[in-house]
Amino acid sequence: MRAWSVVVPGPVEAGGLRPVVKPVPVPGEDELLVRVRACGVCRTDLHVTEGDLPVRRPGVTPGHEVVGVVAGSGAAVRGFVTGERVGVAWLRRTDGSCAHCARGAENLCPASRYTGWDADGGYAEYTTVPAAFAHRLPAGLDDVAAAPLLCAGIIGYRALRRASLPPGGRLGLYGFGGSAHLCAQVALSEGARVHVLTRGAAARRLALELGAASVGDAHDVPPEPLDSAILFAPAGELVPVALRALDRGGVLSIAGIHLSDIPPLRYESELFYEKEVRSVTSNTRQDAREFLALAARHDVRATTHVYPMARAAQALADLKAGRFDGAAVLVND
Ligand SMILES: [Zn+2]
Ligand SMILES: [Zn+2]
Repeated sequence: MRAWSVVVPGPVEAGGLRPVVKPVPVPGEDELLVRVRACGVCRTDLHVTEGDLPVRRPGVTPGHEVVGVVAGSGAAVRGFVTGERVGVAWLRRTDGSCAHCARGAENLCPASRYTGWDADGGYAEYTTVPAAFAHRLPAGLDDVAAAPLLCAGIIGYRALRRASLPPGGRLGLYGFGGSAHLCAQVALSEGARVHVLTRGAAARRLALELGAASVGDAHDVPPEPLDSAILFAPAGELVPVALRALDRGGVLSIAGIHLSDIPPLRYESELFYEKEVRSVTSNTRQDAREFLALAARHDVRATTHVYPMARAAQALADLKAGRFDGAAVLVND
């Protein structure tokens, strides 16, 4: 099959991601073989390609927002039929037995494995997924619309829950890409007032179209103090900026898997009055189920830009350069 491979991590413009031919994968005994129809492009794929994340599987095929159909399964799989549509997301496997898994925090499992990092993902014609980690997708969403929900959407949802936004609260979103624009729709559907702080003109326009109360530059002071903020931009220098924008008792959640260094914080203006900073690590399957149900109910829609699978490296380069708003989705013909 045709697939993309991170042979030597490096800048995507310089060939960090290469087209290769490799055998169709053989599913493990508890896994599904999935014929990929669409795969969303996530910033984490860029971090894997460029070596911002350590190599966990040499030559890995990125992609963890996969919509496809079941094309085969291992001997131990029950409950899936060939041709059924499934989603494959970032969290691929946990041990199910550690203290974190036992208390419902499987996203913190030290033995967790990830699609498109530890195992080959969806920038290919076929991929595999443990059946217990495959997601059923709402019928009303087509493949392209569903793909970005599988990481951008789920992570945005978890980041929103981690931000502890009170009902009807004031939320600031720093950065407004694939994840943030889905998170904004969830927050708005729940009655929040959303302020978007980002530099891109297209992203600001999209924010206003979706119903944001205000837009501004990432370093601007929002028009009212925030109950909660979410940092989507991978820019540590915005942590103190967002903390200063919080009201007393406010919470900042950091959505990214990778963040540049955070400068020293000033206690009085940035942390005192019980402000909190929280990180967001992956997601649980429960987050995914909650978000996918909510997305179907409130018609949460990604703004998508479709690329043929053969142009995956271009899509990643365009993401890096900020050449589109919303989310890119690769499709196999
Ligand atoms: Zn565990
Ligand atoms: Zn992702």
